[in-house]
Amino acid sequence: MRTIHKTKSTDQVKYKRFTRKKFCRFCADKVPFLDYKDTKMLKSYLTERGKLLPSRMTGTCAKHQRDLTEAIKRARNIALLSFMEK
Ligand SMILES: [Zn+2]
Repeated sequence: MRTIHKTKSTDQVKYKRFTRKKFCRFCADKVPFLDYKDTKMLKSYLTERGKLLPSRMTGTCAKHQRDLTEAIKRARNIALLSFMEK
């Protein structure tokens, strides 16, 4: 059996390269529902090209990630968001 030494400090530094603290913002804010009209909020979950960011990057929980996808699709349909940005 090999013993793996956990080098916590170095791991954490590696993690911090791109992400801020990961947590589900919607759970933290205790939002009752996701507002698809809030484009500012939705846009923070999209890449600059208009693609949806994966939950592993944003830290959004599965439930809210689903809601978010739904909200973004809705927003796109009524032209609040674009499908693709140049
Ligand atoms: Zn959540």
